[in-house]
Order: sequence, then C-alpha cells, then structure tokens
Amino acid sequence: MHLSDLEHKRIAIWGMGLEGRATLGFLNHHFPHKDILIINRDWPEDVDHFIFEKDIENHLNDFDVVIKSPGVSFYHDAVAKMQDRGIEITSATNIWFALPKFGKVIAITGSNGKSTTSTLTHHILKKLGLNAELGGNIGTPLLSLPLDADYYVVELSSYQTCDLKYAPEIAVLLNLHPEHIQWHKSHDQYYQDKRNLLRLGAAVNIVNADEPRLADTPNKICFNARDKIHFENGVIYNGDMPVGGTTDFPLLGEHNLENLCAALTITTELGLVLTECLKASFSCPGLPHRLQIVGPIDGITYVNDSISTDPEATIAALKALSGKTIALILGGQDRQQDFGELCTLIDSTQTVSAICAYETGPRLFDQITSPHKQMARDLEDAVKIAREKVKGDGYILLSPASPSYDAFRDFVDRGDQFLKLAKS
Ligand code: ADP
Repeated sequence: MHLSDLEHKRIAIWGMGLEGRATLGFLNHHFPHKDILIINRDWPEDVDHFIFEKDIENHLNDFDVVIKSPGVSFYHDAVAKMQDRGIEITSATNIWFALPKFGKVIAITGSNGKSTTSTLTHHILKKLGLNAELGGNIGTPLLSLPLDADYYVVELSSYQTCDLKYAPEIAVLLNLHPEHIQWHKSHDQYYQDKRNLLRLGAAVNIVNADEPRLADTPNKICFNARDKIHFENGVIYNGDMPVGGTTDFPLLGEHNLENLCAALTITTELGLVLTECLKASFSCPGLPHRLQIVGPIDGITYVNDSISTDPEATIAALKALSGKTIALILGGQDRQQDFGELCTLIDSTQTVSAICAYETGPRLFDQITSPHKQMARDLEDAVKIAREKVKGDGYILLSPASPSYDAFRDFVDRGDQFLKLAKS
C-alpha cells in the first residue's frame, strides 16, 4: 500500500511489538496530525488511542485501514469480518515495499536458515564494499531502514510473505518444513503462504533444488543442484567448476553450507565474482542461539541452538556434530510437531543421550526407544543431568525442536538461561 493511499484514511495498527512500534514511529513522522488507533492484547502505557484486541469487533466502524503485525494471523476471525466491512488490511512490509527506493531488494524466506542466509548475504555484500542494509524478520523493522541503500537484504517470515503484494528483485525460498500451524491453520496453507513470495513476479526466484514442492517455480534458479552452485566433499562448485574449499567457512554443519550456496547464488545473480564472495563469507560471524559454541568449560563444550523450534533444525544440529558424544536437551511448546525422523536419528546414534523436558518432553521421551534418555524437570535439571551423561568430555547441545513460549519469554531468553547455566 502506497503512503499516499493512507493520507486520508483512519488508520489502526494491530499489534504493538517491535514492528508495530516502528510503524507507529514511521506514521507519526509522515502524518504528524493523524491520531493512529492501536489495537493490542495489552494496553501499552504510552498510547492513548487504544482498543483491546478482544473488543475489536465492536470497533469496526472506527478505522478504514488496519496495518496488521506479523504475529496476528491472517486467518484470525476478525480479519474476515474486517474484509467484509471493506476495511483494507495491509502490513508494514507491504508499506515498505511500496516506498520509492532505488536499491535492489533481495527477499529471503524458508522454514529454516532465513536469518543465517540473510546475514551471510548481507555480510558478503558489505565485505565487497557495497552499500547494503539488512532488515525484516531478523529484527530491524523495514520501516526503520534508511532509503538510500543500493541493496536491501530482507528476511521474511511466512507471516510476512502470506499477504505480500509487491515483488522483490530477487526472491529466495530456502526450504519448506511443516511449521506455524496455529497461524496458518494447515500445513498446505503454510506452504502456499510461503510460496506466495515466488508468485509476485521477481526477476529471479532462487530455490532449493532438493525441495520437490518448489519444482514448478517460475523464473527459477536452483541452488544445491549439480549443474548450479552446490557443495560436495568440502568444496563449493558452480556446476563442474570448483570455486574453493570450505575449511575456512566458520559456520558448522552441512545445512550452513546449503545456506552458503543460497547466499552465493544470490550474489552471483547480482553480478559479483563467486570466488571473491566465497572468500568474503569466511569472516561472517555466526549468529547467537544458532549452534553457538561456548567452551570447552571443564572439558565440556556447550552448544546453544535455542532457536531450534522444529525437529528439522535439531536434525541439522545433530548432523553438524556427528561423531561427537552429545547430551541433547530437547522439548518445549507443543505445536503438534512430527518427531518421527528426529527420534529415529537419536535411536540410531549411540553417542547421543536425550534429556527431555517441558511440554513436548513426555511425547519425545515416549517416542525415543534408545535407553539413553531421561526426563528432566526444567532447564537447570536438564543441564545437571547432561553433565552427568557426558562425564566431563563431550557436548551439551540445547536444540529443543520446539518453541520456547511454554516456559520462557522467547528463544533468546531460553538460550541466555542455558548459557548462564553453562557458565555456572
Ligand atoms: P530462521 O531464521 O529461518 O529461523 P536460522 O538461520 O535462524 O533460521 O536458523 C534456525 C535454526 O535452523 C538453527 O537451529 C539452525 O541450525 C537451523 N538451520 C539453519 N539453516 C538450516 C537449513 N538450511 N536446513 C535445516 N536447518 C537449518
């Protein structure tokens, strides 16, 4: 939605998280005389013009446009009621995409690896001296980015791709695993909402060759394909041409080499030299809470992978540490995850003990048939048990395969508490 379309409308912002706040700041700057209505679950103390989310249906005559935050499901009952009333539903992402700017937009989505691939791509561009910004789901709201960059690397969640109306220059879909069923209501709807990014008419859609659901993507360039950018035995190839080894690449695990191939495919599409981009990736710092290594402390290496909210991420973490003695701390909010493949991997790996806790803990414990398993009361208890399991020499891996919200503020809180326990 264009800024000019908002000028004469009564605007509501639905959701006062980081993005909602940035949107309010942006609108106050552009329309200083407008009274913006805030809809939220709780009353943010610093706003006056406010209604509680639970009362929303009694206030449908109070606004013409609602700027919905990503956390609010597009399939919320009130959204359909608003649409019936002719209220326009938009998002900060749509407003930002419609803003006039000259820089190229690279939009990256996927079930796993969005933040890593966005960070890698941004890092490579910066390292090569280009004027690039990074924002979106990764934490910096798009509406707070400067508008004079040459490149925008934008991480988008499925909540943001679902109703996106504008095409980036380059769209990237890394992989698809079943996730976020509460928001999207079904797995098929989730896949469809993610794939919406590939239907918008980007000049190039970069997708994972290994994902059959993306086979019919228009304007497609694959990564991970033998005739394109892929890796094999620690070497990056462009088709048959070796580009360089990956020994100096600092991020652990083959999944991160996949993310690297995606980032290199993006930068190649931007016309940059592949060997230089690979070299630039070697100085990319890892992200906290994603296979973040601490220690060894008293012989034990602690790995904080608190961001793992689905079984696929934990499988990737176990593969990244394969061959090591691991006490794996599992469990968190139940979102009807299918733990079958993960439990089979745990059962087939003699060197892994599973310590299960929180909402999904009992389900995981029951599904694992290996004798190397134990229930824990909480994270503190889990770390204590894990220390006994690895006996002063091995890895304690927090990779819960489940969201954190049943017991922690978010995955950062969960990861920070784990690091505190590691150091205690
Ligand atoms: P996102 O932003 O999509 O949540 P991150 O880059 O923050 O992704 O990584 C989240 C989790 O997913 C981490 O546990 C990480 O180890 C795992 N992961 C990252 N990339 C991949 C991938 N390509 N395939 C599977 N798992 C991955």
